[in-house]
Amino acid sequence: MTHLYCATSNPGKLREFRMAAGRVEIEMLPGFRDIPPCIENGRTFEENAVLKARHYGQHASGLLFADDSGLEVNALGGAPGVYSARFAGPKATDAENNRLLIERLERVTNRSARFVCVIAVAEGERLLKLFRGTVEGTVTRKPKGSGGFGYDPLFYYAPFAATFGEVAAERKLAVSHRGQALRAMLDWIQSS
Ligand code: IMP
Repeated sequence: MTHLYCATSNPGKLREFRMAAGRVEIEMLPGFRDIPPCIENGRTFEENAVLKARHYGQHASGLLFADDSGLEVNALGGAPGVYSARFAGPKATDAENNRLLIERLERVTNRSARFVCVIAVAEGERLLKLFRGTVEGTVTRKPKGSGGFGYDPLFYYAPFAATFGEVAAERKLAVSHRGQALRAMLDWIQSS
């Protein structure tokens, strides 16, 4: 069985990674929380994913992947983008970020947005490959549903006529930015 380390402490992400993994075993990097954190100062999802994969890759024996993801809102010029996790401040909770997004879009009619996920795979410090997934939706005026994590309860996906917070995790993963990037990575790993 192929074995892959994953550099994340976000339980929502880890759950989704494992759900899609199939015959590939995905494990959180041992001792992840004791490793000095990666400074995520890239300007794009790609830059941050590469920074994380190369930083944590040095501590892994074998292949490691890291993802950088977030929400781009068109009316906000692509914000919160790479700042999605810290939109309302460095230690902001999902609820605080969601409240701020609702506030910023209070008088906005163009509510189109997309989730983006970039996965970088590294072996030690060497970057091997990048994968990108995106999914288009709109931002609701109130949270709906309690599933998923982050901005899921505010992300309305028209083909489901529901927010990502209202659908089962498997349904979200079948269409989501993370599901797309992850499946592309798994195909590449299994064919190489
Ligand atoms: P990262 O850990 O720097 O990649 O931050 C990602 C942030 O983007 C998360 O903390 C969420 O706020 C948001 N985000 C990314 N993917 C999703 C998703 O699938 N659902 C909801 N929010 C997401």
